[in-house]
Amino acid sequence: MPKVAKWIGDAVEGLMKTKFPMMKVVDKVYITPNFIKVKFYGDIANMDFQPGYAVAIRVNDTEFRNYTPYFFNKEKGSLEIIFHMHGSASGTEFIRSLEIGHHLRISIPRGKKMYDSSASTYIFFGDETSLGLAYALQAVVKQEHQSIQFYFELDKENIYLPELLGIKRNYVFENKESFTDEELISDILFKNSLHTEMDNKCFVLTGNAKSVQTIRNVLKRENVKGRIIAQAYWAEGKQGL
Ligand SMILES: Cc1cc2nc3c(=O)[nH]c(=O)nc-3n(C[C@H](O)[C@H](O)[C@H](O)COP(=O)(O)OP(=O)(O)OC[C@H]3O[C@@H](n4cnc5c(N)ncnc54)[C@H](O)[C@@H]3O)c2cc1C
Repeated sequence: MPKVAKWIGDAVEGLMKTKFPMMKVVDKVYITPNFIKVKFYGDIANMDFQPGYAVAIRVNDTEFRNYTPYFFNKEKGSLEIIFHMHGSASGTEFIRSLEIGHHLRISIPRGKKMYDSSASTYIFFGDETSLGLAYALQAVVKQEHQSIQFYFELDKENIYLPELLGIKRNYVFENKESFTDEELISDILFKNSLHTEMDNKCFVLTGNAKSVQTIRNVLKRENVKGRIIAQAYWAEGKQGL
């Protein structure tokens, strides 16, 4: 529900207080000029954190946006999210305006599970909006002794982010439209032998809707074996997803 009438937004928050716990902003760090890490504190004891789950944040009277908690500590009540800023959109403006000490309600995490315990190898494609998921997924995959490799399309100023966040085995393409190029996707698959039937593979595709669609098309066209878990995180010209 990216956009609702104000009274519906008020009602959702008011009637579902247990589903929208109050959180306090306890830290805010600019990692790059358009990438912010925010730490929240609140009662998250009953929250279910699964890789792929996102929280909805009310960014003004009528709009909600989805973001992925990438780190949490239930005992300490802390939860962290990394936000990509772009232009002057509602979500971006709201996150920029957050200050330490601010209170806000966020929804409990929910959504699509991006982890498949039966896979032995993960191939992950995404952009800045996918970095929180990448971090969360890497932690689970490591714990379960599976393997994962990451392919990111990022703005120039963000190319060091995966490294900075401790995301290993990452390949970065310094052009936000890289993954809308079918030939490049084919190249990535074949040069890295990702098209083979070896391993029980799981492709996780998030980020730009057009990129997600292009990668999925190439995987289907090349008849690549493996499960595909895909979710667009934003779409050109569209508000919220
Ligand atoms: C399940 C899920 C989890 C997500 N997790 C995260 C997360 O952890 N961190 C995060 O930063 N984002 C995340 N997103 C993406 C985020 O919700 C969108 O980028 C959202 O559109 C941002 O809202 P906004 O108000 O800033 O822009 P909007 O008002 O939604 O969009 C305004 C314009 O900006 C464009 N736009 C939107 N996002 C981007 C972008 N990233 N880059 C360039 N142009 C863009 C739109 O096409 C539109 O034209 C997630 C989305 C989903 C669905």
